[in-house]
This record gives sequence, C-alpha cells and structure tokens, in this order.
Amino acid sequence: MAFEYAPAPESRAIVDLKSSYGLFIGGDFVDGSGHAFKSVSPATEEVLAEIAEATANDVDTAVAAARRAYTRTWSKTSGAERSKYLFRIARIIQERSRELAVLESLDNGKPIRESRDVDIPLVAAYFFYYAGWADKLEYALPHRRGATTTPRPLGVAGQIIPWNFPLLMLAWKIAPALAAGNTVVLKPAETTSLTALLFAEICQQADLPAGVVNIITGAGETGRALVGHPDVDKVAFTGSTEVGKAIGRTVAGTRKSVTLELGGKAANIVFDDAPIDQAVEGIVNGIFFNQGHVCCAGSRLLVQESVYDDVLARLKRRMATLRVGDPLDKNTDVGAINSSEQLARIRELSAVGEAEGAERWSPPCELPDRGFWFAPTIFTGVSQAHRIAREEIFGPVLSILTFRTPAEAVEKANNTPFGLSAGVWTDKGSRILWMANQLRAGVVWANTFNRFDPTSPFGGYKESGYGREGGRHGLEAYLAE
Ligand code: NAP
Ligand code: MG
Repeated sequence: MAFEYAPAPESRAIVDLKSSYGLFIGGDFVDGSGHAFKSVSPATEEVLAEIAEATANDVDTAVAAARRAYTRTWSKTSGAERSKYLFRIARIIQERSRELAVLESLDNGKPIRESRDVDIPLVAAYFFYYAGWADKLEYALPHRRGATTTPRPLGVAGQIIPWNFPLLMLAWKIAPALAAGNTVVLKPAETTSLTALLFAEICQQADLPAGVVNIITGAGETGRALVGHPDVDKVAFTGSTEVGKAIGRTVAGTRKSVTLELGGKAANIVFDDAPIDQAVEGIVNGIFFNQGHVCCAGSRLLVQESVYDDVLARLKRRMATLRVGDPLDKNTDVGAINSSEQLARIRELSAVGEAEGAERWSPPCELPDRGFWFAPTIFTGVSQAHRIAREEIFGPVLSILTFRTPAEAVEKANNTPFGLSAGVWTDKGSRILWMANQLRAGVVWANTFNRFDPTSPFGGYKESGYGREGGRHGLEAYLAE
C-alpha cells in the first residue's frame, strides 16, 4: 500500500520570472523580429512568459556575433583562461541551482526531485569536467600523440536541443564547444526556453566575453535557418530522427561537420538470476524517470520467461506506489507530459498498442484536471512486430516481451532501427560482458539504468545518430585536426 503524504511543494518564489524574454545576442538581450510565443507550465497550462521568435535575419545577426567573438576574442583566449570562465559558470550554476531546478520543473513539468537531484547537478558537473579539459586539448585526440601543435577549434557552432532535458542538453552542447575554443549559437526547444535564457544571464554574471554564447529562441523554422546558415562551421543536434535526417540532407556536401543525437527504443533485459527487486527499481527508473521523455529510456522490457510472472507482479506492485502530480511537490515521482502535442502522440500510440492486441495496464491513479498528464502504463503480450515495440513513444509507456535464451535476448534487443542504449540485469559478470559485446547500442548499463557521467561518452548506432557527447570523445566533435 502507498503511504499517504502531505503536499510538500517547493516554493517558486526563488524564480524571478519576467513577463517577456528577448534573444541573447552579442552579450545583450535584444528583441526578436518574429512573432513572440508563449511558454506554459505543462502541469497547469498557466502562461509563464512570452518568448521572442528569431527569424532568419536574427539568426544571421547571432551567427555574425558569434563569428566576431570567435575571431576577435575567443580564438585568442588561452585554454587556461577559457577554463576559468567555464569553471566560473559551473560555480554560478551550483550557487543558483535551486532557482534553476524550480524553473526547469515549472517550464518542463519534470518532478523537482529530478531537476534538483539529477539535472542541475549534472549540468554543473559537465561544466566542471570540460573546464578541466580547456587547457589540455593536446591530450584530447590520442591519435595525434606526438604532434607539436594543439588541435584547433572549428569556429562557430550552431546547436539545437530538445525539451526533455533542457538545461542538461545545453550543458552537453555548450561546455565542450567552449572548452575547445568555439563560439556558439544555441536554439532551445520551443516549449522549454526559460532555463536557457536564465543561463544567458549566468553568462553575463560570469563576464563571459560578448558573443561567445548566443541563445536564439523560436520553433523549427529558426532551427532550420541556423542549420542552413553558410557561416556555421559545425552543427550539433539532439532531437528526433526525422529532423536529424533532414539536417543530414541540408549539410550534405557542405564543409560543415555535424553530430546527431537522435531517438532510441532501448531494451532493458532481465535474466532469471538477476536480483529481482533491484531490477524492478531499474525498470521503473528506466521508463518512468522524466515521464519516459528520455531518448535512452528502457522502453522495451525483455524478461526471461522463467521469472516473467514474478517480475510482472512485483513491477505492478511497485508502480502502484508511484505518485503522479505536481512537479514542484518534493514527493512527486512522475510529473506532467511536456506538451499537448506530446500527450496526443503518447495517447495515439497507446491506442494503437491496444488495437494491435497488446494488453494495457496502469495502476489506479488520479490525474489532475488541468495540464497534460498520462498515467504510468505497461503493455503485456507485445510482439516484436507491434508498433509499440518498434516506435519511440517518448512517454511513460513500457512494452514487455519475453525470451528464453541469451541468444534470443540479443536478437530481440538488436531487432530495432535504433541503437542508443540497453540494460542488462544478471548476477553473472561474464554474461554482462558477453551481452555488452553483442548489443548494438552506444551505452550498455549493467544492473543499473539511466546513469550519466560527464567522463563517459554517450551516443548512438544506426538511426540513433552519430558522434559522441561527453568525455574526451565529446571534444573531438569540436576540434579540427
Ligand atoms: P524535434 O522535433 O526533432 O526537435 C528538436 C529540436 O529541433 C527542437 O529545438 C526543435 O524546435 C528543432 N527543430 C524542429 N524542426 C527543425 C528543423 N527542421 N530544423 C532544425 N531544427 C528543428 O524533437 P522533439 O520532439 O523536440 O524531441 C523528441 C525527440 O528527441 C525524441 O525522438 C528523442 O529520442 C530525441 N532525443 C534524443 C536525445 C539524444 O541524446 N539522443 C536526447 C533527447 C531527445 P521546436 O522545439 O520548436 O520543435
Ligand atoms: Mg513550457
């Protein structure tokens, strides 16, 4: 039985929301020339602020500001100096972490427990980590060992990020780019611009030279203009496979380098010798963390047949204790779906799952009247041909399949157009290593799931994209030979 909890809401007083926000170009906030749009809290549908829309002209101004900063300042700033700026930014992020966490939860809908304990600490960690690299770039590319020159930055990076981890994806993009000596123009997702704009204020607070970081807000069109801009040297994108493919077509044949972090449909594989209670926690964390809006979510559970009934019973019992509701409540486990569009997609694919014959189950759970909500859901009786086993739902929906032998687990796990991540639960070290070798996935977690660390590269195979972010590998994408 679930315990009764009194509400424990985090105060939002710490956030100083403005009624409208401009674009951050050349170190200042300026008006956008497009039509301003609204950012809402997905938990209540309350309008939080108006956000400027950057047109192609504004993109041009931002890229010019980044180019100027690159040529006149940043490319002449020593690695040790760049390191100090990154270190300062990391410290300010720590100092303002509560403010950032509250704003992230307000704008995105994710539980404060996650923004406070996962997102923001990782954001600081990525800046600290890359601060340490800025003056050691000659060691970043091991195949150049013995070279007498330090690897060079690429120039101006155009960076586009999604809405599921707004500030963390910003950190994954901006920290390595700046450490390597590039300047950036970054476009956050339309529904989650606010923490990127607060980050712009942090750049001012850190006295980062004007134009080194530029933040332009807007929708897909703004992103398209940035990708297509002739003076952008490098494009870094995180988002859907569909848009990733379009970007690939745009930059093909140009001198731009590109990294793409796209979708996933990860297998989370539970063997019969696994510690079942821990595995159940890992299953829950794998698919219900961040409402399942996670590219590397463990959205396909593969359970060995001999423990299937036991795992399913314990999973259902555990799911019945999940608290869904107010993202700012410190007791909340599952927050709001980020947008009505995403909610519609999750509903549609779940309906398809039922229509195709899979069996749907959710624990009893009362959802708020306003806002965008979806109860944690599992599907059993799923076959590999079902759309809910093949397509990314990007929501709190788990498809459960079974297997008998390790070889069958590998075959089913790899039977997907994606290859971003996978999880293996077993007592045997040798099996973990064997599985990790067989699985076509960029990250394989063993007896854990959804763990991130700045020192560890992250990225995909196949339709999950190419290039790596994080670790030393994350610098390669921002350095010329
Ligand atoms: P999306 O539609 O691809 O959007 C991602 C970003 O691209 C947003 O900033 C978006 O702007 C912008 N955009 C849209 N159309 C564009 C275009 N034609 N040219 C340039 N930019 C464009 O994806 P999403 O729905 O926001 O995010 C969900 C997807 O991202 C999932 O498939 C998920 O797997 C993937 N994802 C991958 C990773 C990873 O690291 N591999 C991490 C997180 C998410 P708007 O916001 O205005 O649409
Ligand atoms: Mg929002």
